[in-house]
Amino acid sequence: MSEDLFLKIINREIPADIVYETDSVLAFRDINPQAPLHVLVIPKTHIRTINDIGAEHTALVGELFTAAAAIAAEHGYADDGYRVVMNCNEAAGQTVFHIHLHLLAGRSLSWPPG
Ligand code: AMP
Repeated sequence: MSEDLFLKIINREIPADIVYETDSVLAFRDINPQAPLHVLVIPKTHIRTINDIGAEHTALVGELFTAAAAIAAEHGYADDGYRVVMNCNEAAGQTVFHIHLHLLAGRSLSWPPG
């Protein structure tokens, strides 16, 4: 998959169902949803994997979580619960190399994940 696919969504070069946006963060519905609510929360700055997060990104990464919580609350899942997960590299299933939090809600989620 394209290395900069999500940059193309940020730049509106390809369409996405955007649900949340700030100056630094964008969130849009996953094209292949795994739960009734499946949103990807991404920084507008390109960071390839979790391994590339530096001290200069800590506030930005924090914003991914506050954004996910806000989106979950907006959709009514704050109390019932939801999951956020970020995959790092191939063994974890990362396919798009621009960090993204998966926000999953709306069904019972098993643990451990597959
Ligand atoms: P990951 O496997 O953790 O890297 O997650 C990448 C996610 O991006 C997958 O859940 C895909 O379904 C999703 N995805 C790929 N292309 C698009 C797209 N154009 N719009 C929205 N979601 C996408």
